[in-house]
Amino acid sequence: MNLTLHGHAALVTGANGGLGSHFALTLAKAGADVAVAARRVDSLRDVDAQIRSAGRKAHAVALDVTHRESVVQAFVAASDALGPITVVVNNAGIAVTKPLLEHTDDDWNRVVGVNLTGAWRVAQEAARHMVEHERGGSIVNIASILGLRVSAQVPSYVASKAALIQLTKAMALELARHKIRVNALAPGYIETGINREFFASDAGQALIKRIPQRRIGHADELDAALLLLASDAGSYATGSVIAIDGGQLVNTL
Ligand code: NAD
Repeated sequence: MNLTLHGHAALVTGANGGLGSHFALTLAKAGADVAVAARRVDSLRDVDAQIRSAGRKAHAVALDVTHRESVVQAFVAASDALGPITVVVNNAGIAVTKPLLEHTDDDWNRVVGVNLTGAWRVAQEAARHMVEHERGGSIVNIASILGLRVSAQVPSYVASKAALIQLTKAMALELARHKIRVNALAPGYIETGINREFFASDAGQALIKRIPQRRIGHADELDAALLLLASDAGSYATGSVIAIDGGQLVNTL
C-alpha cells in the first residue's frame, strides 16, 4: 500500500481556508508539492507558508472556477512552477441557504456555477493537462452527503452536488484509458471557520442530534479518504464516492 505522494505535484482549488487549505497541507505532508489556488493570491500566504514549513514546494496561483481562461492559466502557472500536475482536488464550493420558494435565479446560477460548472471546468482542464503529459493522475471532486440525500433550504446546493457525483462517474468512465482516476469525497458536516458559530447555536446543536455519532467531524478525519483517492493506494478506485459523515447517511430521521 502506497499512501504517499512523493514525486507528485497537486493543485487544490479554494485552498485559501476551510477544508481547502487543510487538504493542501495534508497532500504536502504526504509528500506532494502543492499549487494552492484561490481567486486572490494574497489570501494564500498562510497555507503557502505552512506547506513550505512541511518541507514541500508550494506555489500560489490565481484561479476563479467561473472563468475558463483563469482555470487554463492556473494549470500553466502551476505546472511551470512544480512540473506536471498529477493530483487535483476540486474543492471550491459555495452554498446559498434560503427557502426553496425564495431562491432566485441568481442564487441558483451562482451555486451551480461554482459547484457544478466550475468543478466541471477544473476537472476537464485537469484531465486535458494529464492526458497531454501522459502520466495519468487522480482527480478528487469534493462533493457532499447532500449530493446523496437532501436537506431543506439548500436546493441549488443539493442539486449541484448530486450532479457533481454523476459527473465524477462519467469522467471516470472516459478517462480510465488515460490512467486518470476520478473519484468523489462526500463529507458530512465538518467544522470549519465558516460553520463553527452555526454549530454552536441551538439550530446547529439540534442538527448534531440527528447525526448517529452525535457530533460533527474534524477536517483531519477526511485525511485518510483523501489520501486513498489521491495516491497509488487507491489505484483501482475510480468512479467511487466515499462518504465520511459520522453515519448521517444511514440515519433515516
Ligand atoms: P469554505 O467556504 O471555507 O471554502 C470554500 C472555498 O471555495 C473558499 O476558499 C472560497 O474562496 C472558494 N471559492 C468560492 N467561489 C470560488 C470561485 N469562483 N473560484 C475559486 N474558488 C472559489 O467552505 P468549506 O467548508 O471549506 O468547503 C469546501 C468544500 O467542501 C466545498 O465544496 C463544500 O461544498 C464541501 N463540503 C464542506 C462541508 C463542511 O461541512 N464544511 C461538508 C460537505 C462538503
